[in-house]
Amino acid sequence: MKNLVLLGSTGSIGQQTLDIVRAFPARFRVLCLAAGYNLDLLAQQVREFKPQYVCCLGKMDGLLINGTSYIQMEEMACLAEADLVMVATTGNAGLLPTLKAMKQGKAVALANKEVMVMAGHLVRQAANHHGGRLLPVDSEHNAIWQCLQGEKEVQRVIITASGGPFRKMPLEELSRVTPQQALKHPTWKMGKKVTIDSATLMNKAFEVMETRWLFDLSWEKIEVVVHPQSIVHSMVEFVDGSVKAQMAPPDMHLPIQYALFYPERVSNPNIPRLDTSVPLDMTFEPLDTARYPCFSLALEAARKGGTYPAVLCGADEVAVESFIKGRIRLTDVYRVVHHTIEAHTSGRGETVEEVVAAERWARQHATEYAQTLS
Ligand code: MG
Repeated sequence: MKNLVLLGSTGSIGQQTLDIVRAFPARFRVLCLAAGYNLDLLAQQVREFKPQYVCCLGKMDGLLINGTSYIQMEEMACLAEADLVMVATTGNAGLLPTLKAMKQGKAVALANKEVMVMAGHLVRQAANHHGGRLLPVDSEHNAIWQCLQGEKEVQRVIITASGGPFRKMPLEELSRVTPQQALKHPTWKMGKKVTIDSATLMNKAFEVMETRWLFDLSWEKIEVVVHPQSIVHSMVEFVDGSVKAQMAPPDMHLPIQYALFYPERVSNPNIPRLDTSVPLDMTFEPLDTARYPCFSLALEAARKGGTYPAVLCGADEVAVESFIKGRIRLTDVYRVVHHTIEAHTSGRGETVEEVVAAERWARQHATEYAQTLS
């Protein structure tokens, strides 16, 4: 029986995590639930899972039932009785709880990719010094992790990308796409932020950065290939040229379950299986970087390091939100992020305070610049 701390319980990954808990009631006890403003769903979850602690950004009325008490996410991440901390928040919310949990030597299942983008070097440092364990939940990283079991001699990692909904759209039409069109991902059902990031491929650059820090690999060893069917979730090539791939129908329950049960594999009839009774076409093609300027922009910021990755994160969050609200065009996401990175004077990014301050500065700058475009 594992005591689970679930941060971001009402989001897409949070809800799917609770699906797994529901399927294996004898294996998990929900110790903490933390959410943002979706209080109706949180209240429902509190009634069903009876956590000891709860946290949200809205009013607590009605949540503190059956002796449940309120504590902050950072406290949740450090509870002595917590066996596993699932960080399924979005944006900057998961950064401090993740760092706290790593410093306590906890196992952290990480789905909040911005944490590794903003401060992957600090999380890696905390893991190395305090023995905390990172369990990757993002489908690509979960795939890489599975391929690496029992292996050492890695030549390169090949991350797959679906290419998003606009892979074949004529370039001149990209500036006219609506939020509704961009929110329709061809293969994955996900939260809004990551779906828009998938349309611009900002998400894939974030995943390269996650890979860099989760697996301590140099930038040169990480590649991206477009695979529109999203059946191969990523691949690892070893020094002898052998390539291992992890495959499954696109469904986040599987990587979540793998992380929750690691190192054990369990059978769950609710998770879809690969259907070999029908023809299965899989294609792989090189990434067209001209179509996705955010991809190269983000990786350039990543390689520069310092506080640039935090600025990238903050600016992208503002730009995506502005696009979803119909204030700027999809192609303006690049302009907002580019403008903010250009305006930034990077610090060394050696402390979490510096990283957080840079991200906050970027949000402010990006907000002001986005207003000039709308
Ligand atoms: Mg992913």
